[in-house]
Amino acid sequence: MDSDYAGIVDAIREIQQITKEQLQYILETEGKENEEYLFRAARDVADRVFGKAVYLRGLVEFTNYCKNDCYYCGIRCSNQNAERYRLSEEEILSCCDMGADLGFRTFVLQGGEDPYFTDERICRIVEKIKAGHPDCAVTLSIGEKSYESYRRYYEAGADRYLLRHETADNEHYCMLHPATLSGENRKRCLYDLKKIGFQVGCGIMVGSPYQTIDHIHEDFVFMQDLRPHMIGIGPFIAHKDTPFKDKANGSVDRTLRILALLRLIFPQVLLPATTALGTADPMGREKGILAGANVLMPNLSPSAVRGKYLLYDGKICTGEEAAECNVCLKRRVERIGYYVPESRGDHPDFAKSDAKTDAKTDEKMDVKTDVKTDA
Ligand code: SAH
Repeated sequence: MDSDYAGIVDAIREIQQITKEQLQYILETEGKENEEYLFRAARDVADRVFGKAVYLRGLVEFTNYCKNDCYYCGIRCSNQNAERYRLSEEEILSCCDMGADLGFRTFVLQGGEDPYFTDERICRIVEKIKAGHPDCAVTLSIGEKSYESYRRYYEAGADRYLLRHETADNEHYCMLHPATLSGENRKRCLYDLKKIGFQVGCGIMVGSPYQTIDHIHEDFVFMQDLRPHMIGIGPFIAHKDTPFKDKANGSVDRTLRILALLRLIFPQVLLPATTALGTADPMGREKGILAGANVLMPNLSPSAVRGKYLLYDGKICTGEEAAECNVCLKRRVERIGYYVPESRGDHPDFAKSDAKTDAKTDEKMDVKTDVKTDA
């Protein structure tokens, strides 16, 4: 193995920071052994904080109407081929009821920016979910809103909010979005959410068009300032009905290396192995966990609409029922030596006790790293 590579990994882990030069070296130096050293270090850090726990979040994709026109996204408003749907309040609540029966303790309501879902409607839904499932966390992922709207969601009982910043570089942001959207506003939202008291998630697409190492480094600098509780990253995957239909997909390998770096720099962060990673590689989610991720977000949406929430081409698990996804994912997690606790899985700063208890439960479990790519 390359001793420079190991030395840099150790230094990043030690000081929890990364220079642009180190980032470039870690991302661009080839070699299975180097990579395995990086992933093992990240796993080790995750282990010390979370043990072998992998948290599941039940994802309810409740509307694919969107007023925005992001160049990369399949549900952008100008995609005439998208078959639009929105779930009723009853449907959303029944997804959560079913999810709770399956053992989920977090529900993520995600959608396009759909004006039908006014603050009143969102608050009512959040209140009803919390009333029915007081032991569960509710996460919203519904885009850019005002401080006042976010405050209302929080008062209605929402615990967490996911809003990927997409890129910290404002010029790069403009290359991915129409002029109605700005990087400044996106970042303003994240700071507002944090101030209000949410557990906040930001994130990027790895390999989004025009992304450079400098941009990724800016993302690290931004995240060190924001100090998010969750970071969602997955490879960019082109959607056939968008302006980026001919752009190259992001690399799985680079996504895994960035996941590992995030774990080294933010030891306590909640880090999903995303559906996009599982779409780009059939074993992508397992590989993500073995590179330091500790969250999976299976779909709880009714099977009738699953095939319609298509942000990118080829999305996996659009044919299954929620219960099937749940069993399948638990099995996949266990096969690599991890387990799924039935707890909310809060960020350690917010957790009363569960993250720490989970970490102690299975100290002796083996981690199996020999992932086969043909499963
Ligand atoms: N409207 C919400 C939810 C957006 S969808 C919001 O604004 O936050 C969730 C995430 O999917 C996006 O933040 C983006 O990072 C990711 N995504 C969208 N299109 C994608 C694509 N083509 N490939 C990979 N990820 C994509």
